[in-house]
Order: sequence, then structure tokens, then C-alpha cells
Amino acid sequence: MVVSRLVLVYGSGMDRVSDLGEVDLAELLGLDLSGQAVERVVEIGRRVDRLRVDGDQPGWAVGAAPPAVAQPAAQPVAQPVAQPMVEDQPMAFAFGTVLDRRPGGGDGLEYALDVWRADEDALLVSVAVEVACFCPTGHQTHTAAETAWTATTGGQLVDALDRAVATMTAWAHEANTADDWRKIAKLPLR
Ligand SMILES: [Zn+2]
Repeated sequence: MVVSRLVLVYGSGMDRVSDLGEVDLAELLGLDLSGQAVERVVEIGRRVDRLRVDGDQPGWAVGAAPPAVAQPAAQPVAQPVAQPMVEDQPMAFAFGTVLDRRPGGGDGLEYALDVWRADEDALLVSVAVEVACFCPTGHQTHTAAETAWTATTGGQLVDALDRAVATMTAWAHEANTADDWRKIAKLPLR
């Protein structure tokens, strides 16, 4: 299972904001988001920022606005279901951020939260643990863990982001060094 982070180039054709409240999320995401859902997404973004350690500057990468799509018919909010992502599936980037657990250098360890436009009607919220990589193939960084949820309504997006933050919080308590995560993922330590 590989998140299509290869297609993601932070800083290329993207805006960078310090707070999601600066972004027109309804336009960016193409969902029929209520004002309340927008507020909750912004607040969840601030919860992510509160997980940052000293020296890690808040910053969110924001993709280009997707084309307008028809508003989805009202449907009951379903629980987001964690599901594997298809390797190399092309997805448009919506917004995301990285928690740098080693700001300023050292052995790299990052927790990434990204929201993708999987297709016209679906978003995908992914979280990943990235460590500096010592594999013989040299990936530069290696994904040590990842989880994702799909969302097709504003309510599902809020649920998915809630779960994403809970997952990041648990990760941050579970292991605190890149070597911890390499052991968990059975990656070469050096
Ligand atoms: Zn690797």
C-alpha cells in the first residue's frame, strides 16, 4: 500500500497558508460544505497545529481549486472506512501539512496529513509516518505507517479529519524517534 505522495510536490503550483481559515475550503474541496462544516475543518486544522513541537512552524500547502462539480444529493452520513489506496492512483492534492518531529535537522521523522481529491465526488484523507530512509534502494524518505479514509460529504470529511488527528496524536505518543518507527515498519536502522 503506497500513498501517491510521489505525485505531490509541496510548493509547486501551490499556495502556502499558516491557517486553514485563510482558504475558501468549499471552493477548494468542491463539496457542498455547510458553514458549520467549514468551521469544524478549520478547527481540526488548529488541533493539528497544536501537536507541533517547538521550532516546527505551522504551515499548510494548498492545491489549486478543482473544477466546479454538481452538488451531491443529500445522503446519510456514513462512517468513513479505512481503505487501502491504489498504488500510483493519480489524485489531485487539496491541502495538507507535515508535523516535523525533528525541526532543524537530525534524524528525520514527520507525520503528514493530506486531503486529496480522489475523483469528482470523493475526497481521501490520509495520514502517514515518514522517516529518513536507509533502504538500499534509497527512497530518501520511507513511509513507516499510513491510514486513509474516504469522504463524499462534508460530514464525512469532518469525521475523517477527526480520525486523522486522533491517529496522529496516538502516533506521536506511541513512538518518538525515527528509529522507533523503523523498527515498527521493519526498515533498516542504518
Ligand atoms: Zn526506504
